[in-house]
Amino acid sequence: MNDLRRLFAYVKPWWKLLLGGLFCTFLFALFSGISIGMILPFTKILFEQEIPPAGITVADPAGISEEALFPQIEVWKETGRAWFMGLFADADPKAALLRVCIGVFVIFLIKGLFNYYRQIFMATLEERVIKDIRDHLYHHMERLPLSYFEKERTGVIISRITNDVQLVREMVGNLFSAFTQNASLLLIFLVVALIINWQMAMLSFLVFPLIALFTAKISKRLRRHSARFQEDMGRITSTLQETIAGIRIVKAFGMERFEEAKFAKQTESYLQSFIRFKRTSILASPISEQLGALGAIIVLWYGGNQVLDGNRLAPEEFFLFLAAVLNMMQPIRKLSHVNTVVQQGLAAARRIFFVLDTPIEPRSAGGARIEGVHDAIAFENVSFSYDNAAPALSDITLRIEAGTMVALVGPSGAGKSTLADLVARFHSPTSGRITIDGLDLQEIEIESLRENMGIVTQEVILFNDSVRDNIAYGKSEIPEETLRHAARAASADEFITNLPDGYETIVGDRGVRLSGGERQRLAIARAILKDPPILILDEATSNLDTQSEALVQAAVENLVKDRTTLAIAHRLSTILRAHRILVLDHGRIVEEGTHEDLVGRGGLYSRLFEMQFAESDRARTSPPAR
Ligand code: ADP
Repeated sequence: MNDLRRLFAYVKPWWKLLLGGLFCTFLFALFSGISIGMILPFTKILFEQEIPPAGITVADPAGISEEALFPQIEVWKETGRAWFMGLFADADPKAALLRVCIGVFVIFLIKGLFNYYRQIFMATLEERVIKDIRDHLYHHMERLPLSYFEKERTGVIISRITNDVQLVREMVGNLFSAFTQNASLLLIFLVVALIINWQMAMLSFLVFPLIALFTAKISKRLRRHSARFQEDMGRITSTLQETIAGIRIVKAFGMERFEEAKFAKQTESYLQSFIRFKRTSILASPISEQLGALGAIIVLWYGGNQVLDGNRLAPEEFFLFLAAVLNMMQPIRKLSHVNTVVQQGLAAARRIFFVLDTPIEPRSAGGARIEGVHDAIAFENVSFSYDNAAPALSDITLRIEAGTMVALVGPSGAGKSTLADLVARFHSPTSGRITIDGLDLQEIEIESLRENMGIVTQEVILFNDSVRDNIAYGKSEIPEETLRHAARAASADEFITNLPDGYETIVGDRGVRLSGGERQRLAIARAILKDPPILILDEATSNLDTQSEALVQAAVENLVKDRTTLAIAHRLSTILRAHRILVLDHGRIVEEGTHEDLVGRGGLYSRLFEMQFAESDRARTSPPAR
């Protein structure tokens, strides 16, 4: 119920559409009721050939039976009936019949018109609401902390925005369109039945509590089964996304069959849970209908007896009553289907709300803004661990003076990336603090911090867009000269102009159409264009050929100039350029100094240097690798 209330919050801004839709729905239902009401004059004319009195006649209250529970209602009923019949009165029965036929035509026309507008209003409302939910979800996801994306599989996240939102869409559509339509039809037919003979109507409604009980029971099962197959769909989307992203590896390892089997297992599991869901949902409609038919049968028996017993019930009234009760069958069945869709949608909504309830990245406490670094970025006894795991960083104290570069080196898993992520506030220290010019990072507005920061990662993120848009990322109206200046500083201008469409060339998903060195230089050009005072540089480990290496080196040199830089260094050239080197091991700083100091010390650094950098140094003098 709570989830439903939350969903309705999205409907509120579009209340006018809802109102218009409800208005048309009600009139549509009313005219549906009137359309079956046409049975009355029709049977009267055909079977009795009696000319109904013309004009409105007020029923004689004295003529109302003494047993009537609500005599006033009986008076209204008789008056209304007389007026309605009067509409089709004619001395000639054939002319009266023609009137009835024209009446039916007009009623269906009006009914159709309202049905059209009802659907237009409701469909627009449905799409508006869904767009708002989808946008809200995306807005929220973008602000979720990095840790959320580390824990949750990408496919599951995508599944929320695609599959789950789709299920909610169906639910909303059904609630507004099918539910309002069928509920009001049911109501109108109910009223018609009640007006004609309330005792008989009550008799046929005896089955309603049975239907309600059955619906409640089945709803729970539907929700449970639905949650299960939605989870399976999330897994399928995940596998799909992962294999597409890693298709190179899949092919290279000849794992197509393995992945296929994995995928088939997941689709089978989805199939099983979906069939289980379907079985319950398919069962719902016929059972509701059967229960409804039971109501109709009671009426047939009782009402038929009344007609047979003499003139206690006029045959045309009995026909109309029967038509009303039988017409209830369809809405009852449809409402039971609406229930299925709603239960399915509610399960999806719960998952969406679960994401929306995940706290977003903590904003700053103080809301301070920064304009570059004037003194230093400093770590004061910083420790950090991921989710109760062993500390990834322990008691780190360091200073990066404004305008200088500090290089982080250390074996894999030492905590270098974690340390860099803390500076960007992708995570917050478990203890200790990080400051910029003495100001705690937690006090600084996250937008302000990131505006001041450029990040060049190992894994170069490119969007499937033109080279120009990839460099300018998010900045529109960049003068051509500024853009090219950045590209030149990143040694990228030359290769870009040689691309088929120059700066307008589309780079392909994640830049697959560019070489590794070219991708890196594009990313560097992007950072140079942004011109941030603080820079985090996570150098690519991949080996480049000599020429590419020289170009990337030159680009890095231009990039780090005059910036306060933290570099996770994999290249000797970068290390030699650094003002200070920190050697990390098992989350601690184990050595610190310049390259010369450290090499002379014969510790971890000198061993790493021997293993990694001296190697790449030698590689530079050998022929190009590709
Ligand atoms: P480096 O960059 O030096 O290779 P990392 O900073 O990536 O090292 O990792 C440091 C430690 O933290 C490692 O033990 C690693 O397993 C762990 N770690 C890194 N990222 C996560 C994460 N998202 N969740 C849990 N543990 C992590």
